[in-house]
Amino acid sequence: MDDVTIFEKIIKKEIPAEIVFENHNVLAFKDISPQASTHVLFIHKEKSTNINEMIEKNPTQISDIFKAIKEFTELEGIDQHGFRVVTNCGARAGQSVFYTHFHLLSGESFGNFGRA
Ligand code: AMP
Repeated sequence: MDDVTIFEKIIKKEIPAEIVFENHNVLAFKDISPQASTHVLFIHKEKSTNINEMIEKNPTQISDIFKAIKEFTELEGIDQHGFRVVTNCGARAGQSVFYTHFHLLSGESFGNFGRA
């Protein structure tokens, strides 16, 4: 069974992606099926399957990711506009690629998701 995900192939540059940010630990590229005018996926170069596994294996990866998001949103001025970060954990939550990733969404006015 081939359990190499599409995101690992993007990291290895085996398949193309529109990379918008990269440092030693983190890669960010445009989502192929954008749900907002800015829709970028942030991944850590060291593999985990989902957020819980990431925390279990190496919790510093979370700060690597969010530092990259901070740097990117400041560079692009997205921090001024506002943005949302989402991660889906498990198929029933909508996860379709089993390599931990964070959706950065901006450009729209989002509702108060999660509030009563
Ligand atoms: P999720 O449903 O949370 O697992 O998100 C996976 C995301 O990956 C979806 O929003 C897809 O549109 C996106 N995606 C899948 N394949 C690619 C690809 N080759 N390049 C960029 N984004 C992709």
